[in-house]
Amino acid sequence: MNFRPQSRPRHLVLCLGDQLDARSSAFDGFDASLDAVWMAEVAEESTHVWSHQARIALFLSAMRHFRDALRAEGLTVHYRQLDHPDNTGTLVLELSSSVGLLRPQRLILVEPGDWRVQKQLKTAALELGVELEIRPDRHFFCSTAEFAVHAKGRKQLRMEYFYRELRRKTGTLMEGDEPFGGQWNYDADNRESFDRSGPGQIAAPVAFPPDKVTREVFVLVGRHFAKHPGNLARFDWPVTPEQARKALEDFIEHRLPLFGKYEDAMWSSDGEMMPRPFLYHSRLSAALNLKLLDPREVIAAAEQAYRQGRVPLASAEGFIRQILGWREFVRGIYWYFMPGYLELNVFKATGSLPSFYWTGQTEMNCLRQTITQTLEYGYAHHIQRLMVTGLFTLLLGVKPQSVHEWYLALYVDAVEWVELPNTLGMSQYGDGGLMASKPYLASGKYIQRMSNYCANCRFDPAESTGGDACPFTTLYWDFLLRHEKFLGKNQRMAMQLKNLARLDPPQRKAIQQQAVHVREGCSASTAV
Ligand SMILES: Cc1cc2nc3c(=O)[nH]c(=O)nc-3n(C[C@H](O)[C@H](O)[C@H](O)COP(=O)(O)OP(=O)(O)OC[C@H]3O[C@@H](n4cnc5c(N)ncnc54)[C@H](O)[C@@H]3O)c2cc1C
Ligand code: SF4
Repeated sequence: MNFRPQSRPRHLVLCLGDQLDARSSAFDGFDASLDAVWMAEVAEESTHVWSHQARIALFLSAMRHFRDALRAEGLTVHYRQLDHPDNTGTLVLELSSSVGLLRPQRLILVEPGDWRVQKQLKTAALELGVELEIRPDRHFFCSTAEFAVHAKGRKQLRMEYFYRELRRKTGTLMEGDEPFGGQWNYDADNRESFDRSGPGQIAAPVAFPPDKVTREVFVLVGRHFAKHPGNLARFDWPVTPEQARKALEDFIEHRLPLFGKYEDAMWSSDGEMMPRPFLYHSRLSAALNLKLLDPREVIAAAEQAYRQGRVPLASAEGFIRQILGWREFVRGIYWYFMPGYLELNVFKATGSLPSFYWTGQTEMNCLRQTITQTLEYGYAHHIQRLMVTGLFTLLLGVKPQSVHEWYLALYVDAVEWVELPNTLGMSQYGDGGLMASKPYLASGKYIQRMSNYCANCRFDPAESTGGDACPFTTLYWDFLLRHEKFLGKNQRMAMQLKNLARLDPPQRKAIQQQAVHVREGCSASTAV
């Protein structure tokens, strides 16, 4: 039995699936003789978006490991398993029944990563008549209140200035008031692609084969979520802080040195069905988002590797910028603009997500590779997400909220505070520029430059019309034509619009007709 009504705790510390950190503020003042921890596995969190099986398994396995670690430390943990016969399937009902049984004086919670969950829990506490104390999330360098101060009165929010503030505040990669190397940002050095021979041998990331706890979770996922996308065959994610630390060390040692140089490159192995999914990326996002890893530890390890001469500055800075810059920035954006942010749709896009996003069955090789890999691993790296799957839905005109639900469902690292601004803001420009200074727009030629996808594709990225036309290239020009007036207000779009102006009326018409065919193909069948 999970619950013990006779032991009435003073404080009941609520621990959500992405709050697996025993050093969090929720545990400040925790008295093991008076207080208890509460955790619940609920189906709702896997079904409100149609979650990937690996995402479900990762959360449940990490939660169970965390529970066991707390119990080993002598803490009382009231833990509701998903397969408990009385499990109601929702956080609110589970909490209601526990509060009824345990009658704690107060509930304690660290700020959740999801506006929806925060609202649900606040409302539930109110209705139950129990005090709910929400404590700040110390995992992050910048609190939501500090971000609000940063944002207030600014015409534009830009990651770069925010990032510099955090570099100064934390002293990361700083020499006094100056950035190491005299430059804040080495992004220009971080855009190389592989030559024809490809990436060569990259040390495979350290793998964590499923242990007993994870295998039990697999059985549960098989029983309750078998129809969900993806599978568990390749599951080897870190599920404990110890494993996450090993993954960090392995990355710093073997892949950080070339991370910066190749962070935008994409590659699939010739003749193999599966692409090389991780390349030089760290695959630490899920461990960070579940709070198995502290970002301070990650940044310190990267900085130390640079100081010891083991990695170039462009790699260390490029990697640190993703965590200290982008990760903190998107969280700030999320909490500053929610709940209205979720509804934004500046291009008024209403299209549906093509069905091949759930199968990978399309003739477009870049999309086939990226989606197949996503279904296999629950992972694709940033440029695959931004410039392949995200770019295509933007160009096609898919409703950003549908795109958001797909990303939230399919990636093992998906938690709404980080996924939503990246999807709706950065990738779909649905927020009209709150996140990014201009839409990330490109034709198939960008994908050709950054990958080998086009070499193995039946389409030609240089063509926008005709039988071989690359759908990305067609839709790119069509997008500029459809939104020329709106985009014309953005100085940073000047070059792309200048190129558009070179198209004569017959070319424009032919592109628009071809775009209609692409759209019809996307809505009618899976094999565009
Ligand atoms: C459409 C879209 C959706 C995304 N959804 C998510 C998501 O649900 N969860 C998530 O963690 N990231 C998301 N990202 C950001 C980024 O793609 C992933 O963090 C990254 O690919 C994870 O792989 P990695 O750990 O190997 O990252 P690396 O490339 O090794 O980067 C190192 C770390 O930096 C952080 N990071 C890098 N880029 C970003 C970014 N843009 N925003 C926030 N943190 C960043 C991550 O914690 C990551 O682990 C999304 C990006 C896009 C374009
Ligand atoms: S040709 Fe177009 S569809 Fe094919 S891989 Fe390249 S970008 Fe993708």
